[in-house]
Amino acid sequence: MKYVDEFRDGERAQRLAELIHSEVDPERHYRFMEFCGGHTHAIFRFGVHDLMPDNLKFVHGPGCPVCVLPAGRIEAAIALAENEDVILCSYADLMRVPAGKGDSLNRAKARGADIRMIYSSSDALSVARENTDRQVVFFAIGFETTTPPTAIAINTARAEGLENFSVFCNHVLTPPAMQHILASGEACINGILGPSHVSTIIGSSAYADCCRGYEMPLVIAGFEPLDVIQSTLMLVRQVNTSRFEVENQYTRAVTPTGNLKAQALMAETFELREQFEWRGLGDLPGSAVRIRDDYSAFDAEARFSMQPMQTADIKGCICPEVLRGVSDPTACKLFATACTPEEPKGACMVSSEGACAAQYSYGRFRAEVKQ
Ligand code: SF4
Repeated sequence: MKYVDEFRDGERAQRLAELIHSEVDPERHYRFMEFCGGHTHAIFRFGVHDLMPDNLKFVHGPGCPVCVLPAGRIEAAIALAENEDVILCSYADLMRVPAGKGDSLNRAKARGADIRMIYSSSDALSVARENTDRQVVFFAIGFETTTPPTAIAINTARAEGLENFSVFCNHVLTPPAMQHILASGEACINGILGPSHVSTIIGSSAYADCCRGYEMPLVIAGFEPLDVIQSTLMLVRQVNTSRFEVENQYTRAVTPTGNLKAQALMAETFELREQFEWRGLGDLPGSAVRIRDDYSAFDAEARFSMQPMQTADIKGCICPEVLRGVSDPTACKLFATACTPEEPKGACMVSSEGACAAQYSYGRFRAEVKQ
């Protein structure tokens, strides 16, 4: 297989699905968490769950970077952007995520805050180069996939002497969140589809520790539909034979050790936070990074003495339960009524990787609601 179309071949998908149907044990229930929002998106977009037997269910996980950012961090960014010396640079998805009391970066921008939508950390550097009389802050979010580009931006700013550039760092780590999900046991899963892009950075061996002791099969899966279906078959086979291994379906991109250069850059620029608040998961120890003191000149939290803010989520929104794999988006009373991608009430309806947005966007919930 060389081209993306081959990973979307309907006939091959059917054949793999038939194998799953023939191999599942009708006496068992298979609940597989797709940790990553990219898989959630692929499952709904390509109708993968429609191909599965009735006793196999995909459970959505917390792997959507926009979704897991707590509202208090967005409120802190809004407060920063309302400083007239500051230009805040943010990814598009974050602009619409509801913070407390219905506020958002978009609304703050409408009130006059200078918030610029960017596509990459290097765009934020360009804004800083073009506005040397203003403080330019990059609102950095994401898992291990987006952390190395932020490290590059910080190191580039230092090399260029860009003194007006800093980063509001909200990068989080996958293994601690996965371990939390496993330790709580509340999602009642018996297999995990492991992240693909994150795994290209951290490598397949990074999951051995967090799965140890939980008797939990994990298969690192690519993002295309055939990847997801083949990985699901691999999980079914592990469950049926009581194996609890880390397997790698996405061998065309993921190695056991991952990207050592990116890991070294991250280690040089960032250090572990003692703890970090996740939407839905609460305060998790060692689950995020902060900028090292050696780079504190580029740390917006230090430069602007930013304080964590506490704020309540929107009443009725069950994003926390959705992110823990405890509830399905359709269990939310606001889903597809008061909350839609055009008017999101919670973070999971904003990004295409959010479970609520993925379920809404392809209309597949309508068939489920009818049943
Ligand atoms: S449908 Fe909207 S309000 Fe309900 S959980 Fe999802 S994002 Fe939150």
